[in-house]
Amino acid sequence: MRQYSDFSPFFPSNEIKAGISLKPFPYFPPEDRKRLAISLKLDPKQLVIPLQVHSDNVAICTKPKVKKNTDGVVTNKQDLVLSIQVADCIPIFLVDPVEKVFGIIHAGWRGVVCGIIQRSVYATIQIGSDPKNLNVLLGPSIRQCCFEVGHDVARQFDSSYITRGINGRSMVDLQSIVIYQLEKLGVKNKKIIDLKECTCCQEKRYHSFRRDGKDAGRMIAILGWN
Ligand SMILES: [Zn+2]
Repeated sequence: MRQYSDFSPFFPSNEIKAGISLKPFPYFPPEDRKRLAISLKLDPKQLVIPLQVHSDNVAICTKPKVKKNTDGVVTNKQDLVLSIQVADCIPIFLVDPVEKVFGIIHAGWRGVVCGIIQRSVYATIQIGSDPKNLNVLLGPSIRQCCFEVGHDVARQFDSSYITRGINGRSMVDLQSIVIYQLEKLGVKNKKIIDLKECTCCQEKRYHSFRRDGKDAGRMIAILGWN
């Protein structure tokens, strides 16, 4: 079985390299990120590694480093290799091929509620991008089929994104909320790709915190230019 998915063909330039590790890929920080970078023909010495905290903190990066308390990283430095880790939260890849601005976001429900999508797009604008040029990919993540939440979480979202599951529980469509937010910020619908793969449903392929609990591994998502 393949150890990673190569998302590079989804983007409008052969120079853009993007991908995510799959469950058979050894989750072994920090070597796993370096290995995935090399697999995607990116320089492992140029990695930007956010230490994620489910926040709306977005960093504009100018050199390879570990960024504390950060869930989104954006840059216009083509030599940098951006990375995050996920296991149900949405890995979101942003690429502006015109201004060569790019970013990667770890978007769980907490981050989405507190505005990480907005802050990430604002950060790309700050370094020269125009949202209408952004190509966005929503990677494998927990979807409405499995994303059951209690009342306290459900009430933070517009009810149109919630359906009733068994036992009257609320099932949230977080991907549609993200797409709505992106479009409101000026991203073109035709430039947004939702992979529509559920991490919780696909046990052989993906790690899932919801399914596997605290022992769950993580997938590494990487984005860079070659
Ligand atoms: Zn599912």
